[in-house]
Amino acid sequence: MAEKEDLRLEIPSYAWIALARRGMEKISLDQCFLKGCDNQDLNLLEPLKKEEFDEENKTIKIIHVKCKKCEGIYQLKLETLKKVAKPMEKGGKILSDEDDIAMGLVFALDEKGNNIGHIGYY
Ligand SMILES: [Zn+2]
Repeated sequence: MAEKEDLRLEIPSYAWIALARRGMEKISLDQCFLKGCDNQDLNLLEPLKKEEFDEENKTIKIIHVKCKKCEGIYQLKLETLKKVAKPMEKGGKILSDEDDIAMGLVFALDEKGNNIGHIGYY
C-alpha cells in the first residue's frame, strides 16, 4: 500500500545517541525496540499508522510500527523542536527540559504508549 511506504519515509534511518564520554553514536531506527527482541530487519517492520500534532514549540509525530518477528507493536515518537524556546508555557507545564537542543528527539514507546526509553536525537 502506497500509504504505508510513505509512513516508512517518515521514520529517520538513524538517530544519534549521546554517550557519556565518547561523543555521539549513530544507531539505526530500523529495528524493534521491544524488550527481548533483536529484530533489525526492515522487511519485518511494518509501519501501521502515524499521529501528528503540534504543541506550543514542537511538532510531535508518533509512528506505530508492528514487528513481525516478536509480533509486538511499538511506537516511535519523534519530537521536532520548532525553535529553541523557554521550557515552560504559561500554565507552568514543563514542555521540555532539553530546551537547549534545537534538533529532534526520538523516544521509543510500547504499544500502550509507555515510554521504553529515550533513543536519541535525529
Ligand atoms: Zn520485535
